[in-house]
Amino acid sequence: MRDTIYTQALRRASDAEGGSAALASVLNVPQGTLERWMSGRAQTPLRAFLKVLERLTAHEASGAAPVPLANGEPLSFHMGQLLARCGRCDGIEFAPADAGAPLKLTSALLCRACGEKVVHGNLLSQLAHDAVQYSHAMTAARARRHLPRPRALAKKSARDGER
Ligand SMILES: [Zn+2]
Repeated sequence: MRDTIYTQALRRASDAEGGSAALASVLNVPQGTLERWMSGRAQTPLRAFLKVLERLTAHEASGAAPVPLANGEPLSFHMGQLLARCGRCDGIEFAPADAGAPLKLTSALLCRACGEKVVHGNLLSQLAHDAVQYSHAMTAARARRHLPRPRALAKKSARDGER
């Protein structure tokens, strides 16, 4: 199972809500669907991910969700082949503005290249939006056969073909 920003956020939200049944009802989806998202077997839809970020932010504020400590390591965020980028310089590495403090979704991050300040949760939701657009663009491009398939996707379907 591949750990992604989606599966991590869903697991943390599920813990904070008191289980996947509770989170499924918050998200208004069948528990089986949520569990496929949580295991990474199905893609978490954008709308559900944004709702999860919203709930997690509220739980972090109330102390219900455990928050990892920022450990001073540079942070980068990826979904599939996409990396979260600084809006000013396109940088892909970020550092917590407050090293050693809990890394909440409301925490400020600084671009390591130019120092631009971004909010952790905003960066993730922007990345999720970009990931959806990217996947639509790739699907359209493949349908037109104008672009080669990205390697990660090609590998995945090769695997699928082995089953
Ligand atoms: Zn920057």
